[in-house]
Amino acid sequence: MMLTFVTSLRTQVITNAASNFFIILNREDNNRYDIMHNTQSVTPTVFPTKYWHKLEDGRVQCDVCPRECKLREGQQGLCFVRANINDQIVLTTYGRSSGFCVDPIEKKPLSHFLPGTPVLSFGTAGCNLACKFCQNWDMSKSREMDILADHASPEKIARVAKELGCRSVAYTYNDPVIFMEYAIDIAKECRKQDIKSVAVTAGYISSEPGKEFFQYMDAANVDLKAFSEDFYHKLTGGHLQPVLDTLKYLKHETDVWVEITTLLIPGKNDSDEELNAMTRWVVENLGPDVPMHFTAFHPSWKMLDIPSTPPATLTRARRIALDNGVHYAYTGNVHDEDGESTYCHQCHTRLIGRDWYVLSDWKLDDQGCCKKCGARCAGVLESKPGKWGARRLPVQLSSFA
Ligand code: SF4
Ligand SMILES: [Zn+2]
Repeated sequence: MMLTFVTSLRTQVITNAASNFFIILNREDNNRYDIMHNTQSVTPTVFPTKYWHKLEDGRVQCDVCPRECKLREGQQGLCFVRANINDQIVLTTYGRSSGFCVDPIEKKPLSHFLPGTPVLSFGTAGCNLACKFCQNWDMSKSREMDILADHASPEKIARVAKELGCRSVAYTYNDPVIFMEYAIDIAKECRKQDIKSVAVTAGYISSEPGKEFFQYMDAANVDLKAFSEDFYHKLTGGHLQPVLDTLKYLKHETDVWVEITTLLIPGKNDSDEELNAMTRWVVENLGPDVPMHFTAFHPSWKMLDIPSTPPATLTRARRIALDNGVHYAYTGNVHDEDGESTYCHQCHTRLIGRDWYVLSDWKLDDQGCCKKCGARCAGVLESKPGKWGARRLPVQLSSFA
């Protein structure tokens, strides 16, 4: 039961006696609310949003993703981070992160977007899918705000990314769709510093918020988790069609550079039939230049009874994709120089050699064309590769001014 008190013209206090917390809505700056736990401030934590509407029965529906959570006062959505507070949907993780790390961009994975460059990766908490095989469950399934230790303003994140020499910031670890207001504000600050924004997402977002969110993104790696509604329904709690719609929208109506990742789970989404159907759909609907990554599953979360994906399955999936006309197909989460490297789709020259994220060959000219046959390699490519290598550098934002 939420109780609301207006304490002054500027401030309104909502308390929840059972949870021992209260929220101060500060009207002077109505974008910033404070949540107080036992009088200890952990601001900023609650942020107003705009994709929602009121229902006749008094609930409020969140319109960010196809789940369309219908929430009573004080209830959280399935993603856990959006909630109905004071008859409106708010984001409860704005300005807080579960941690930062500089990675090679290949790790997102993106193989055709500024290869070899460092990206500042971070995430928050929660997720709008409920994948039983989640490989990142400590953050995405978190019901604890305690993991959101790093307080991080959009301006500071962009500044630190610049100071660390990163070419991009990646919204990853958990799906940025659910913290889109925070991600957008960071992306705006990044643009001022000429830093690109990368969304690592399941693409489970509704049309209108999707249009707003992706206009601030420069690249996206979209998880296409399988190519059957049955898989999406039983193992993710979502649906396939909205993800296909997002992919088509990104490819045909935006300038966002798109790559696709599919985590192959033995016996669940790795049949020849399904991989043929998926890769043919990609070529027919998105064209041959959208790179596809087939990555290895490791037993995790609620799927501990299924073995890790054999490397041969990844190689088979890559072969099927190439045979069906996908120009660039990769294996991931395993050591496989052939499967990690980029080849010319026309003459098959190894254009970008990779060995566990370390780049070796670079056979592209200044225009991003194959030095041997002149065919253009798709992507956002520069005349030289980055030199970040395979390093992983954890970053404590609080250690920066
Ligand atoms: S973003 Fe969260 S609250 Fe909104 S509809 Fe999706 S799962 Fe529900
Ligand atoms: Zn060539």
